[in-house]
Amino acid sequence: MDYQSIINEIAEEVFPLLGDGKVANYIPALAGVNPKQFAMTLTLFDGTQYSVGKADTLFSIQSISKVFTFTLALKFYGTDLYKRIGLEPSGNPFNSLVQLEYEKGKPRNPFINAGAINVTDALINHYGNDETAYEEVLEFIRAISDDKTIDSSDVVAISEMEHGFRNLALANLMKSFNNLDNKVEDVVGTYFKHCAIEMNTKMLSRAMLYLSNDGVDPVTGQIYITASQSKRINAVMLTCGHYDASGDFAFNVGLPGKSGVGGGIVAVVPEVMGICVWSPGLNANGNSLAGTKALELFTTKTGLSIF
Ligand code: GLU
Repeated sequence: MDYQSIINEIAEEVFPLLGDGKVANYIPALAGVNPKQFAMTLTLFDGTQYSVGKADTLFSIQSISKVFTFTLALKFYGTDLYKRIGLEPSGNPFNSLVQLEYEKGKPRNPFINAGAINVTDALINHYGNDETAYEEVLEFIRAISDDKTIDSSDVVAISEMEHGFRNLALANLMKSFNNLDNKVEDVVGTYFKHCAIEMNTKMLSRAMLYLSNDGVDPVTGQIYITASQSKRINAVMLTCGHYDASGDFAFNVGLPGKSGVGGGIVAVVPEVMGICVWSPGLNANGNSLAGTKALELFTTKTGLSIF
């Protein structure tokens, strides 16, 4: 398949949509991003990459980090992790408090904020302290991306904490139900540092390869997780990766994927490739507007959906 021509065509087709969405504006560091940007990268199992647009531009990965923290927590805790976090789609916005109250402090899944904060708490338990939990997640991301330069933005992380009232509320609510072990500020602070990691579409599509290949990096042969764990993560990405628009994404794109409010979306084509698309303008559900359309066009043009 001529992947380069296909993604060039997609870039042209989504061009009129750039600027239609709304850039995340809950912190100044994200509100200043130019919405009229677009990039897409495909990474195949031999490491070959096809890119279009601003594929070298770094952006805030935000909730895409939830895939990586969930991976590590599942690796260390196995099915015990499900005692503290559920696996069902929430049907609610990513930062909703209401459902968490009804469900006695047990988050619906690891990809809504409460779930990812809870996963971070489990990782702090595993690594012994918040600093190490942050560093080890960063090291894992560097390893799966095969790029040691990846880092977190202090400006974004600090700004998140200054405006993080709702996330702190989610953590406090879980703590009140005895479903959070460490100090609220430490857990939320570490969660924000993971969200503030900056990557480009080349790095993120490379980072998806282990999930396209049953937990094993096809380029280096490194085994990160079991095939069964990889299957579970892909399943949760498919059902919960786009908040309350997860059904819509499965319907229109048909791939496991995870979005972030920085405008990035990662997707997995099992046995074939990792994908990342980025465009900062978001739709009403907080997912990249042009990015979602680009992935829909991709599976339509290539037939590479899981269905
Ligand atoms: N840092 C963001 C928050 O917790 C992440 C949300 C997202 O990317 O969807 O509000």
